[in-house]
Amino acid sequence: MAQPKYRIATIGSHSALQIFKGAHDEGFKTIAVCKKGSESPYKMFNAADDIISIDSYKNFPKIQKELIKKNAIIIPHGSFVTYMGYEEVEKLKVNYYGNKKILKWESDRHLERQWLTKSGLKVPLLFKKPEDIDRLVIVKFMGAEGGRGYFLAKDKKDFYRKIKPYQLRKYVLQEYIIGVPLFIHYFYSSLTNEIEIMGCDIRYESNVDSLGRISARDQIVLPKIDPSYVIVGNIPVVVRESFLPRLIEMGEKVVEVSKKLAPPGLFGPFCLETILTPEEEIYVFEISARIVAGTNPFIEGSPYTWLKYDKPMSTGRRIAIEIKNAIKTNQMKRVLG
Ligand code: AMP
Repeated sequence: MAQPKYRIATIGSHSALQIFKGAHDEGFKTIAVCKKGSESPYKMFNAADDIISIDSYKNFPKIQKELIKKNAIIIPHGSFVTYMGYEEVEKLKVNYYGNKKILKWESDRHLERQWLTKSGLKVPLLFKKPEDIDRLVIVKFMGAEGGRGYFLAKDKKDFYRKIKPYQLRKYVLQEYIIGVPLFIHYFYSSLTNEIEIMGCDIRYESNVDSLGRISARDQIVLPKIDPSYVIVGNIPVVVRESFLPRLIEMGEKVVEVSKKLAPPGLFGPFCLETILTPEEEIYVFEISARIVAGTNPFIEGSPYTWLKYDKPMSTGRRIAIEIKNAIKTNQMKRVLG
């Protein structure tokens, strides 16, 4: 197999093992940019041909020259965008897979909401101020700490009592949807204009997913157990087949709308974060415009990629194939943003 001269690079975290494995499967060399002390998985699993260690992710732009010299293509993932911030990512000069301009639309909760509603998707209500709360809400903090500290409030009194330890933090008040949280992974090819469902997962979050192990009787007598939503891992899910047409249409719609919001639009991997209610309504509470960690259980492929490819196909590998196809057909401009 011809060895492409590009190398696949990303920050050593999140879904990097999968991205590197996919790159190797397709004949690319890989570069892991690791925070000092976090190199071991990339050595243990032979994932990185080259490791560049930095003191802080904020120093990433400083090693750009080296990456450019090595002809690297950066694959953005969740940690990459979170640690650097979309403004810094937009400034990068090194080759980058995906449309950087779409990151603003996923990073700002208000823009994200506009995108989702323009796409005709159902989103949870937002309340402007605590006085407006008329149902159960989830109070979400802005920033990079995942679901740490999120809490539920049933009215303004409950809200003001629980917000005390977090007084200075910015938050949003979102209607709490009772149902099954389902994360749907897509891939949209900017070369063929085709959308694929790559897989689905549910997250396992601490402590909310372990509260069910404590009976209601014991929960009542314990002084203070509020649910929190700190992600621990991801579990594969195969959805009821009759949901698939709706899920495919939802993915198509967000891609279509993104083309107007930030031309040439969203391409590559992305994820809709949803909650399915017993009435079979699908609420979308977030979109991630890059690979999500929920694809990690599918390094060997998911049932959906097995149906389509008949060989192991992770999202990481799908990205590498897309880059390879762009190289072969001289269309790198259509995959680099
Ligand atoms: P987020 O930080 O927005 O990804 O949310 C973290 C977790 O909170 C999700 O994985 C869900 O378990 C839960 N969650 C977020 N938004 C809602 C909502 N509107 N209704 C119910 N649960 C939610």
